[in-house]
Amino acid sequence: MIRASNISRYRNCGGAPAAEAGIPEREAKSWTTDGTLIHAALESPEAFKSLPEHLIDTAEWMDLSRQYLLDKVFPEQEGYERLQVIREQPFFVKYDGEKIISGHPDFVQIGTIFGKRTALILDFKAGFLEVPAPEANDQLRAYAVAVWQDKELKIDEVYASIIPRFGVAKTPVYYSSADLPLVLLDLADMEKATREINAERVPSVVACRYCRARSTSRCPETLYPDKRLKEMPSLIALSPAQKGELLDLCEIVRGNIKALQERLWDELKEDPNAVDGWLLAPGDVRGSIPDVDACYQIVSDIMTQKEFQSCLKVAQKPLKDAIKNWLVEKEGIKGKAAAARIKTILAPVVVLKQAEERLEKKTP
Ligand code: SF4
Repeated sequence: MIRASNISRYRNCGGAPAAEAGIPEREAKSWTTDGTLIHAALESPEAFKSLPEHLIDTAEWMDLSRQYLLDKVFPEQEGYERLQVIREQPFFVKYDGEKIISGHPDFVQIGTIFGKRTALILDFKAGFLEVPAPEANDQLRAYAVAVWQDKELKIDEVYASIIPRFGVAKTPVYYSSADLPLVLLDLADMEKATREINAERVPSVVACRYCRARSTSRCPETLYPDKRLKEMPSLIALSPAQKGELLDLCEIVRGNIKALQERLWDELKEDPNAVDGWLLAPGDVRGSIPDVDACYQIVSDIMTQKEFQSCLKVAQKPLKDAIKNWLVEKEGIKGKAAAARIKTILAPVVVLKQAEERLEKKTP
Protein backbone atom coordinates (compact mmCIF):
# COMPACT_ATOMS: atom_id res chain seq x y z
CA MET A 1 0.00 0.00 0.00
CA ILE A 2 1.43 3.40 -0.88
CA ARG A 3 1.43 6.40 1.46
CA ALA A 4 -0.47 9.58 0.65
CA SER A 5 2.66 11.65 1.28
CA ASN A 6 4.43 9.80 -1.54
CA ILE A 7 1.77 10.09 -4.21
CA SER A 8 3.07 13.16 -5.98
CA ARG A 9 6.49 11.51 -6.22
CA TYR A 10 4.97 8.32 -7.60
CA ARG A 11 2.83 10.24 -10.06
CA ASN A 12 6.06 11.63 -11.49
CA CYS A 13 7.92 8.32 -11.35
CA GLY A 14 5.74 5.19 -11.47
CA GLY A 15 8.82 2.96 -11.04
CA ALA A 16 9.75 4.41 -7.65
CA PRO A 17 7.66 2.11 -5.37
CA ALA A 18 9.25 -1.03 -6.83
CA ALA A 19 12.71 0.54 -6.81
CA GLU A 20 12.40 1.65 -3.17
CA ALA A 21 10.88 -1.59 -1.81
CA GLY A 22 12.92 -2.97 1.08
CA ILE A 23 15.39 -0.05 1.27
CA PRO A 24 15.35 1.35 4.82
CA GLU A 25 14.88 5.07 5.56
CA ARG A 26 18.06 7.04 6.24
CA GLU A 27 18.59 8.61 9.63
CA ALA A 28 16.42 11.69 10.30
CA LYS A 29 18.06 15.08 9.75
CA SER A 30 17.87 17.86 12.33
CA TRP A 31 15.28 19.77 10.26
CA THR A 32 13.01 16.73 10.12
CA THR A 33 13.29 16.49 13.90
CA ASP A 34 12.20 20.15 14.11
CA GLY A 35 9.21 19.31 11.92
CA THR A 36 8.26 16.43 14.21
CA LEU A 37 8.43 18.70 17.27
CA ILE A 38 6.28 21.37 15.60
CA HIS A 39 3.70 18.76 14.58
CA ALA A 40 3.59 17.45 18.15
CA ALA A 41 3.22 21.00 19.53
CA LEU A 42 0.26 21.64 17.22
CA GLU A 43 -1.33 18.46 18.49
CA SER A 44 -1.01 18.95 22.22
CA PRO A 45 -0.54 21.90 24.60
CA GLU A 46 1.82 19.73 26.67
CA ALA A 47 4.17 19.27 23.72
CA PHE A 48 3.87 23.01 22.99
CA LYS A 49 5.25 23.81 26.45
CA SER A 50 8.39 21.76 25.88
CA LEU A 51 9.06 23.18 22.41
CA PRO A 52 12.62 24.52 21.96
CA GLU A 53 12.80 28.32 21.94
CA HIS A 54 13.75 28.61 18.26
CA LEU A 55 10.56 26.81 17.15
CA ILE A 56 8.01 28.65 19.29
CA ASP A 57 7.33 31.48 16.83
CA THR A 58 6.85 29.06 13.96
CA ALA A 59 4.46 26.84 15.92
CA GLU A 60 2.49 29.87 17.14
CA TRP A 61 2.21 31.20 13.59
CA MET A 62 1.02 27.86 12.25
CA ASP A 63 -1.49 27.58 15.08
CA LEU A 64 -2.89 31.03 14.20
CA SER A 65 -3.18 29.99 10.54
CA ARG A 66 -5.11 26.88 11.59
CA GLN A 67 -7.49 28.99 13.66
CA TYR A 68 -7.94 31.40 10.77
CA LEU A 69 -8.99 28.61 8.38
CA LEU A 70 -11.23 27.03 10.98
CA ASP A 71 -13.03 30.34 11.44
CA LYS A 72 -13.37 30.74 7.67
CA VAL A 73 -14.84 27.29 7.02
CA PHE A 74 -16.80 26.91 10.25
CA PRO A 75 -17.56 30.48 11.39
CA GLU A 76 -19.26 30.72 14.73
CA GLN A 77 -22.67 31.62 13.36
CA GLU A 78 -26.00 30.02 12.60
CA GLY A 79 -25.88 27.18 10.09
CA TYR A 80 -22.35 26.11 11.03
CA GLU A 81 -21.42 23.63 13.70
CA ARG A 82 -18.10 22.11 14.81
CA LEU A 83 -18.56 18.54 15.97
CA GLN A 84 -15.32 16.65 16.33
CA VAL A 85 -11.55 16.99 15.82
CA ILE A 86 -9.49 14.05 14.62
CA ARG A 87 -5.70 14.15 14.78
CA GLU A 88 -3.16 11.80 13.26
CA GLN A 89 -5.65 8.98 12.86
CA PRO A 90 -4.96 6.51 10.02
CA PHE A 91 -7.33 6.76 7.05
CA PHE A 92 -7.36 4.65 3.89
CA VAL A 93 -8.32 5.19 0.28
CA LYS A 94 -10.21 2.07 -0.76
CA TYR A 95 -10.88 0.86 -4.28
CA ASP A 96 -12.57 -2.36 -5.33
CA GLY A 97 -12.72 -3.40 -1.69
CA GLU A 98 -8.96 -3.03 -1.22
CA LYS A 99 -7.01 -0.44 0.76
CA ILE A 100 -4.67 1.18 -1.78
CA ILE A 101 -3.40 4.35 -0.07
CA SER A 102 -2.81 5.10 3.61
CA GLY A 103 -2.43 8.45 5.32
CA HIS A 104 -2.50 10.28 8.65
CA PRO A 105 -3.97 13.77 8.13
CA ASP A 106 -2.52 16.15 10.73
CA PHE A 107 -5.82 17.77 11.64
CA VAL A 108 -9.42 17.06 10.63
CA GLN A 109 -12.35 19.16 11.85
CA ILE A 110 -15.69 17.48 11.30
CA GLY A 111 -18.74 19.68 11.33
CA THR A 112 -21.91 20.65 9.53
CA ILE A 113 -22.59 23.50 7.13
CA PHE A 114 -26.30 24.06 6.67
CA GLY A 115 -27.00 20.39 7.32
CA LYS A 116 -24.19 18.97 5.14
CA ARG A 117 -21.56 16.94 6.98
CA THR A 118 -18.29 18.62 6.15
CA ALA A 119 -14.64 17.86 6.84
CA LEU A 120 -11.87 20.44 6.93
CA ILE A 121 -8.52 18.67 6.49
CA LEU A 122 -5.30 20.51 7.30
CA ASP A 123 -1.79 19.37 6.54
CA PHE A 124 1.00 21.10 8.51
CA LYS A 125 4.11 21.70 6.44
CA ALA A 126 6.90 22.64 8.82
CA GLY A 127 9.69 22.21 6.26
CA PHE A 128 11.35 24.83 4.08
CA LEU A 129 10.38 23.54 0.64
CA GLU A 130 7.52 24.92 -1.44
CA VAL A 131 4.60 22.48 -1.62
CA PRO A 132 1.96 22.27 -4.36
CA ALA A 133 -1.10 24.49 -3.85
CA PRO A 134 -4.15 22.73 -2.31
CA GLU A 135 -5.92 22.33 -5.66
CA ALA A 136 -2.88 20.55 -7.11
CA ASN A 137 -1.83 18.67 -4.00
CA ASP A 138 -2.03 14.88 -4.33
CA GLN A 139 -1.55 14.29 -0.60
CA LEU A 140 -4.62 16.41 0.19
CA ARG A 141 -6.60 14.69 -2.58
CA ALA A 142 -5.88 11.31 -1.01
CA TYR A 143 -6.78 12.55 2.48
CA ALA A 144 -10.01 14.04 1.13
CA VAL A 145 -11.10 10.75 -0.44
CA ALA A 146 -10.00 8.68 2.55
CA VAL A 147 -11.95 10.82 5.04
CA TRP A 148 -14.99 10.88 2.74
CA GLN A 149 -14.86 7.06 2.44
CA ASP A 150 -14.85 6.56 6.21
CA LYS A 151 -18.33 5.16 6.77
CA GLU A 152 -18.69 6.30 10.36
CA LEU A 153 -18.01 9.95 9.52
CA LYS A 154 -20.68 10.14 6.78
CA ILE A 155 -18.99 13.08 5.06
CA ASP A 156 -20.74 14.90 2.19
CA GLU A 157 -18.07 17.43 1.24
CA VAL A 158 -14.46 18.23 2.04
CA TYR A 159 -12.32 21.34 2.34
CA ALA A 160 -8.58 20.75 2.49
CA SER A 161 -5.58 23.02 2.86
CA ILE A 162 -1.98 23.38 3.85
CA ILE A 163 -0.64 25.27 6.84
CA PRO A 164 2.81 26.39 5.72
CA ARG A 165 5.74 27.32 7.92
CA PHE A 166 6.06 30.67 6.16
CA GLY A 167 3.49 32.95 4.59
CA VAL A 168 -0.25 32.83 4.89
CA ALA A 169 -2.53 29.79 5.04
CA LYS A 170 -3.58 28.64 1.58
CA THR A 171 -7.18 28.98 0.46
CA PRO A 172 -8.71 25.49 0.88
CA VAL A 173 -9.60 23.36 -2.11
CA TYR A 174 -13.24 22.25 -2.09
CA TYR A 175 -14.39 18.75 -3.07
CA SER A 176 -18.15 18.22 -3.40
CA SER A 177 -19.86 14.82 -3.26
CA ALA A 178 -19.77 14.89 -7.09
CA ASP A 179 -16.00 15.59 -7.22
CA LEU A 180 -14.85 12.95 -4.74
CA PRO A 181 -15.71 9.81 -6.82
CA LEU A 182 -13.77 11.30 -9.74
CA VAL A 183 -10.77 12.03 -7.52
CA LEU A 184 -10.95 8.42 -6.29
CA LEU A 185 -10.79 7.13 -9.89
CA ASP A 186 -7.78 9.30 -10.61
CA LEU A 187 -5.97 8.06 -7.48
CA ALA A 188 -6.83 4.44 -8.31
CA ASP A 189 -5.42 4.87 -11.84
CA MET A 190 -2.25 6.37 -10.47
CA GLU A 191 -1.88 3.63 -7.85
CA LYS A 192 -2.44 0.94 -10.50
CA ALA A 193 0.34 2.41 -12.63
CA THR A 194 2.79 2.05 -9.73
CA ARG A 195 2.05 -1.70 -9.57
CA GLU A 196 3.29 -2.33 -13.10
CA ILE A 197 6.39 -4.46 -12.75
CA ASN A 198 8.07 -2.59 -15.57
CA ALA A 199 6.81 0.87 -14.63
CA GLU A 200 9.24 3.39 -16.03
CA ARG A 201 11.64 5.22 -13.72
CA VAL A 202 11.61 8.89 -14.64
CA PRO A 203 14.16 11.05 -12.80
CA SER A 204 13.09 14.56 -11.89
CA VAL A 205 13.85 16.99 -9.08
CA VAL A 206 10.44 16.41 -7.48
CA ALA A 207 10.32 12.63 -7.85
CA CYS A 208 13.87 11.82 -6.78
CA ARG A 209 14.26 14.26 -3.87
CA TYR A 210 13.25 11.80 -1.15
CA CYS A 211 13.51 8.54 -3.06
CA ARG A 212 15.37 5.84 -1.17
CA ALA A 213 16.38 4.19 -4.44
CA ARG A 214 18.25 7.25 -5.66
CA SER A 215 21.83 6.51 -6.66
CA THR A 216 21.54 2.81 -5.87
CA SER A 217 21.63 -0.14 -8.24
CA ARG A 218 17.81 -0.21 -8.00
CA CYS A 219 17.74 2.97 -10.06
CA PRO A 220 20.45 2.95 -12.71
CA GLU A 221 18.97 6.15 -14.14
CA THR A 222 20.29 8.07 -11.13
CA LEU A 223 23.34 5.96 -10.34
CA TYR A 224 25.13 6.77 -13.59
CA PRO A 225 25.38 10.02 -15.54
CA ASP A 226 22.09 10.83 -17.24
CA LYS A 227 22.34 9.77 -20.88
CA ARG A 228 20.37 12.84 -21.89
CA LEU A 229 23.43 14.89 -20.91
CA LYS A 230 25.56 12.95 -23.37
CA GLU A 231 23.02 13.47 -26.12
CA MET A 232 22.94 17.25 -25.72
CA PRO A 233 24.48 19.26 -28.57
CA SER A 234 27.37 21.53 -27.65
CA LEU A 235 26.44 24.44 -25.40
CA ILE A 236 26.76 27.04 -28.14
CA ALA A 237 24.15 25.23 -30.28
CA LEU A 238 21.52 24.98 -27.53
CA SER A 239 18.27 26.90 -27.78
CA PRO A 240 16.96 28.73 -24.66
CA ALA A 241 14.53 25.83 -24.14
CA GLN A 242 17.35 23.28 -24.29
CA LYS A 243 19.42 25.37 -21.91
CA GLY A 244 16.50 25.29 -19.47
CA GLU A 245 16.39 21.50 -19.84
CA LEU A 246 20.14 21.35 -19.24
CA LEU A 247 19.85 23.25 -15.96
CA ASP A 248 16.98 20.95 -14.89
CA LEU A 249 19.27 17.99 -15.56
CA CYS A 250 22.07 19.64 -13.59
CA GLU A 251 19.72 19.85 -10.59
CA ILE A 252 18.93 16.14 -10.86
CA VAL A 253 22.56 15.12 -11.32
CA ARG A 254 23.63 17.32 -8.40
CA GLY A 255 21.09 15.51 -6.16
CA ASN A 256 22.21 12.11 -7.49
CA ILE A 257 25.83 12.83 -6.62
CA LYS A 258 24.87 14.09 -3.16
CA ALA A 259 22.78 10.95 -2.49
CA LEU A 260 25.63 8.73 -3.68
CA GLN A 261 28.19 10.52 -1.51
CA GLU A 262 25.88 10.23 1.53
CA ARG A 263 25.50 6.49 0.97
CA LEU A 264 29.23 5.93 0.70
CA TRP A 265 29.76 8.18 3.77
CA ASP A 266 27.38 5.83 5.66
CA GLU A 267 29.31 2.79 4.43
CA LEU A 268 32.63 4.23 5.55
CA LYS A 269 31.14 5.07 8.93
CA GLU A 270 30.16 1.42 9.33
CA ASP A 271 33.38 -0.01 7.93
CA PRO A 272 36.56 2.08 7.39
CA ASN A 273 37.65 -0.37 4.66
CA ALA A 274 34.41 -0.16 2.70
CA VAL A 275 35.72 2.21 0.00
CA ASP A 276 39.22 1.85 -1.41
CA GLY A 277 41.28 5.02 -1.35
CA TRP A 278 38.82 7.00 0.82
CA LEU A 279 38.39 7.54 4.54
CA LEU A 280 36.31 9.68 6.88
CA ALA A 281 38.85 12.33 7.87
CA PRO A 282 38.37 14.08 11.24
CA GLY A 283 36.41 17.33 10.96
CA ASP A 284 38.27 20.68 11.06
CA VAL A 285 38.79 22.08 14.55
CA ARG A 286 37.88 25.77 14.76
CA GLY A 287 38.55 27.89 17.80
CA SER A 288 36.17 30.51 19.14
CA ILE A 289 36.42 33.10 21.93
CA PRO A 290 33.09 33.13 23.73
CA ASP A 291 34.34 35.09 26.79
CA VAL A 292 34.90 38.66 25.56
CA ASP A 293 35.89 40.05 29.01
CA ALA A 294 38.53 37.41 29.64
CA CYS A 295 39.94 38.02 26.18
CA TYR A 296 40.18 41.79 26.73
CA GLN A 297 42.00 41.31 30.01
CA ILE A 298 44.65 39.33 28.17
CA VAL A 299 45.09 41.78 25.28
CA SER A 300 44.45 45.09 27.05
CA ASP A 301 48.20 45.72 27.40
CA ILE A 302 48.60 45.33 23.67
CA MET A 303 45.66 47.29 22.27
CA THR A 304 43.23 50.03 23.23
CA GLN A 305 39.60 49.28 24.03
CA LYS A 306 38.56 50.86 20.75
CA GLU A 307 40.95 48.71 18.76
CA PHE A 308 39.69 45.66 20.62
CA GLN A 309 36.07 46.57 19.92
CA SER A 310 36.81 46.89 16.21
CA CYS A 311 37.64 43.16 16.30
CA LEU A 312 34.23 42.22 17.69
CA LYS A 313 31.09 41.25 15.83
CA VAL A 314 27.69 40.95 17.50
CA ALA A 315 26.16 37.46 17.45
CA GLN A 316 22.66 38.28 16.25
CA LYS A 317 20.78 35.22 17.49
CA PRO A 318 21.54 35.57 21.23
CA LEU A 319 21.10 39.35 20.95
CA LYS A 320 17.67 38.97 19.35
CA ASP A 321 16.71 36.27 21.84
CA ALA A 322 17.60 38.58 24.72
CA ILE A 323 15.54 41.45 23.25
CA LYS A 324 12.69 39.05 22.58
CA ASN A 325 12.67 37.90 26.21
CA TRP A 326 12.75 41.52 27.37
CA LEU A 327 9.78 42.40 25.11
CA VAL A 328 7.74 39.48 26.45
CA GLU A 329 8.53 40.35 30.06
CA LYS A 330 8.24 44.15 29.95
CA GLU A 331 5.70 44.78 27.21
CA GLY A 332 3.91 41.46 26.70
CA ILE A 333 4.82 41.47 22.99
CA LYS A 334 5.67 38.18 21.28
CA GLY A 335 5.51 36.32 17.98
CA LYS A 336 5.38 38.35 14.75
CA ALA A 337 4.87 41.64 16.61
CA ALA A 338 8.06 41.05 18.61
CA ALA A 339 10.00 40.19 15.44
CA ALA A 340 8.84 43.45 13.80
CA ARG A 341 9.78 45.43 16.90
CA ILE A 342 13.25 43.88 17.08
CA LYS A 343 13.77 44.73 13.43
CA THR A 344 12.90 48.37 14.14
CA ILE A 345 15.10 48.55 17.26
CA LEU A 346 18.16 47.18 15.47
CA ALA A 347 17.59 48.91 12.11
CA PRO A 348 20.02 51.81 12.79
CA VAL A 349 22.93 49.42 13.39
CA VAL A 350 22.19 46.54 11.03
CA VAL A 351 24.23 46.66 7.81
CA LEU A 352 22.51 44.90 4.94
CA LYS A 353 24.62 43.16 2.36
CA GLN A 354 23.03 41.45 -0.60
CA ALA A 355 24.50 38.07 -1.55
CA GLU A 356 25.49 37.12 -5.09
CA GLU A 357 22.63 36.47 -7.50
CA ARG A 358 21.80 32.77 -7.74
CA LEU A 359 20.31 30.49 -10.32
CA GLU A 360 16.68 29.83 -9.52
CA LYS A 361 13.97 28.05 -11.45
CA LYS A 362 11.01 30.24 -12.34
CA THR A 363 7.73 29.12 -10.79
CA PRO A 364 5.02 28.66 -13.45
S1 SF4 B 1 15.46 7.86 -7.86
FE1 SF4 B 1 14.06 9.02 -9.12
S2 SF4 B 1 13.98 7.94 -11.06
FE2 SF4 B 1 14.87 6.55 -9.58
S3 SF4 B 1 13.15 5.36 -8.84
FE3 SF4 B 1 13.42 7.06 -7.43
S4 SF4 B 1 12.07 8.66 -8.19
FE4 SF4 B 1 12.30 7.18 -9.84
